[in-house]
Amino acid sequence: MFFDIHSSLRLLGIHPWELKIPFDEQVWSIQFDVIKKSFSQKILAIGEIGLDRRHNGIASINFQEKILSWQLDWALEVNRPTIVHCVKSESDLLKILNAKKYKGRLLIHDFNGTIASAKSLLLYDCYFSFGPRLFDVHTKTHSVIKSIPIDRLFFEKNEHSTKSLEDVYNCAAKILKLEKLQLEDQIFKNLLNFFSYSNDISSTDIINDFSNTST
Ligand SMILES: [Zn+2]
Repeated sequence: MFFDIHSSLRLLGIHPWELKIPFDEQVWSIQFDVIKKSFSQKILAIGEIGLDRRHNGIASINFQEKILSWQLDWALEVNRPTIVHCVKSESDLLKILNAKKYKGRLLIHDFNGTIASAKSLLLYDCYFSFGPRLFDVHTKTHSVIKSIPIDRLFFEKNEHSTKSLEDVYNCAAKILKLEKLQLEDQIFKNLLNFFSYSNDISSTDIINDFSNTST
């Protein structure tokens, strides 16, 4: 079975792309209270939350950091991991984690940072997901994925790519020099481990959430 970590439907959070300009902190503070009130035990993770230095028309990185910071604290309160969108802002994310001495669990999806930033992030309870970018031999992704422990890995599809989730798994198995089945088993274990962070979520809940997109 293949699992697309970027496909969970049971998430709650404010994505940085939602923070359109002109940014009004007070409006978002009220909006955040509304989101917090809609939390239920069914929510598997807080996400997608994060930082994006490339996307146009959204709040400055300082404001993005503020909203992310609120949400990281909230994730700890409700005992949930976070799914993090992080574009050209790994060092900004690390700055926040360092300042908080953050103890929560996070997953950075479609990770495109350097080996050095992956190493620093691994000092936290951080997981990483890779997608069709793995097929591009001109990116640093190949060396980066090899620097990450296999029990911190996930994979994902991308709607803009023709590569299937299975293609992504196969490509990763080749890069990591692993048997395909061994990798599948490991990612399944990672999936249960990642979300069972909170002991009120059962394995069945987790598998059901991902069964729409797994094959
Ligand atoms: Zn994203």
